[in-house]
Amino acid sequence: MILRIMAAVALITLTSCKVTSLESERAAAPAVVSWEDLPAKIKARTAFVQLEKIHSADWSVDRSGLIDLEHQTARSAGLSEGPEPIQIFLFSLVHPRAGRYFIDTGIAEIFKGQQEEWPVSSVIRGAMNMEALQIKKTTAEVLQKGAVAGVFLTHMHLDHILGGADILPEIPFLVGPGESTSRHWQNMVVQGSTDRLLGKNRPLRELGFESTAGGLAVSDYFGDGSFFVIHVPGHTPGSLAFLAVTTDGVHLMTGDTCHTAWGWKNNVTPGTFTRDKAANALALNKLKELTEQLPGIQVHPGHQNL
Ligand SMILES: [Zn+2]
Repeated sequence: MILRIMAAVALITLTSCKVTSLESERAAAPAVVSWEDLPAKIKARTAFVQLEKIHSADWSVDRSGLIDLEHQTARSAGLSEGPEPIQIFLFSLVHPRAGRYFIDTGIAEIFKGQQEEWPVSSVIRGAMNMEALQIKKTTAEVLQKGAVAGVFLTHMHLDHILGGADILPEIPFLVGPGESTSRHWQNMVVQGSTDRLLGKNRPLRELGFESTAGGLAVSDYFGDGSFFVIHVPGHTPGSLAFLAVTTDGVHLMTGDTCHTAWGWKNNVTPGTFTRDKAANALALNKLKELTEQLPGIQVHPGHQNL
């Protein structure tokens, strides 16, 4: 019995790997601000960003992945398993000094072609129900408006890096703490596809910032109160949410800390797609609390419009 347990532990350890074989460089997140100070920092902004939400694709996946159907609120509402229509979004952000950045990558031109040519394995294609993807706008089309200086990833799940092939290989991708360096046995299945989607020599920067007591870690990324990067661990170790301060008001991009409109309205975390449900719930609670302090804020869940 003990031998069997030891063998199982050894197997799990041996097969645990990072989500990508690319090496990331660690970069300190600039201008870390305390969670409590965030609403005041937003009000004191000295610049605005322009934000455009791009509907890259329609898609459909299992509801039990997107919403925790075991949650009491979901049970009371009578939610059950089934296909849930969702979207893939890309956000384009223009800062007056730093230029254009993307949040996530959208979907690349190559996905208009034969499935056998797609830069993902056939196992992933089936497991992710990728046959259901319907492209609305490719990332190459979005890039006709102007080049990007960098790409922030809400996290490194495959549906957030499908546009990698359309983005020049030297453009850096920025991820949250531990996102590209933590290990898990499931990564064994996705690592090859993740590598191909990112590109062979993609510069990967993992932002390092510690959370302040009782709050989430926040970086005032451009130092002028126009754009904040928030570490929301739970869905994945390095999941990020973003706050953009525009002339049209404040926008919160939750990433997959909350995939759906129903999940946001009812404060219910994602289901089986989330790695650490308890941490995800804490992060989602904090984001909900923040929005209550910012009347008029526009919230963008990861895969649906509110
Ligand atoms: Zn997603």
